Amino acid sequence: MPMLLFTRHQLLTRWYEQHARILPWRETRQPYPIWVSEIMLQQTQVKTVLPRFVDWLTQFPTITTVAQATEDQIMKAWEGLGYYRRARLLHQSAQHLEQHYQSIFPSNFDDILSLPGIGRSTAGAIASFCFEQYTPVLDGNVKRVLRRWYGEENCAEKVLWQRAQQAIDIAVMPSLWNQAMMELGATLCKPRNPLCNQCPIQAHCDNAFQDSVQKKSKNCATIKNVYWQVHLYHDEHLGLWLHQRPRNGIWGALWSPPITELQEEPAVQPDHIHLLTHRRLHLYAAHHPSKTQPTHGSGTWQKEWHTLALPTGIRQLFQKLNM
Ligand code: SF4
Repeated sequence: MPMLLFTRHQLLTRWYEQHARILPWRETRQPYPIWVSEIMLQQTQVKTVLPRFVDWLTQFPTITTVAQATEDQIMKAWEGLGYYRRARLLHQSAQHLEQHYQSIFPSNFDDILSLPGIGRSTAGAIASFCFEQYTPVLDGNVKRVLRRWYGEENCAEKVLWQRAQQAIDIAVMPSLWNQAMMELGATLCKPRNPLCNQCPIQAHCDNAFQDSVQKKSKNCATIKNVYWQVHLYHDEHLGLWLHQRPRNGIWGALWSPPITELQEEPAVQPDHIHLLTHRRLHLYAAHHPSKTQPTHGSGTWQKEWHTLALPTGIRQLFQKLNM
């Protein structure tokens, strides 16, 4: 039977039901775990999130347990997921929910949207997945699908929201529609080399099999090289000299040795290279004699430093240095 006899919606949702990945946050309609998964997935890949999502729910099974945790406990539980501001805002939201909503996640879209760290797209995901509301998701994957589907490479965000709303308005189940669009963008309609030959809506897509899609999807992000000296004051009795980094900026609120930025690339090899989204951090360890009074930064001696929330790059540096 010709594919055009089916609507885009029928083709896409049927494909999703047959091919969707089995993911733990898709096995529930409870807002709390779905909220946690949406925040974790904002900047982190599914394969990284999977074990951490399970660990998080084991440590914090309810909104109240998040609200009553200390910030250090939250940051430690988030360690390695990156973009730590998400964890702080999740913590603030849980405290707000405890104080104003008896720790019950609201079902009203505007109430969801008012929570710290929840933008329109995340609120749309939660409202549709948990409460079957006709609220679209417009994450990076869905934007890409819509732009290609309508053949509008430079389509403005405002127009994309209109397109997304129009599409979900005629869906039978908004949760299913949003999930299917997200899954299509994540698995077939990839930034580079979209798999149009496997795509359920190829007959409806203005950019299907277009060379231009493949060409214009190059990753143009430029990565800046940064050279950091990491000052290590390590005393067998006192511990390690660490400070909590400023909340705003790289590794905000995590614990780290003092760091100074080098203006030029040193002639020696770095002890560790850590890649962030737009920066390549070259880390050079500077070992200071153990009896030296630290002169870099306003830190404190931390005997139990292994238990603190450290940036992944610093923890990997320590591992390489056998600390
Ligand atoms: S046909 Fe190709 S470009 Fe169009 S939505 Fe499907 S995967 Fe993306």
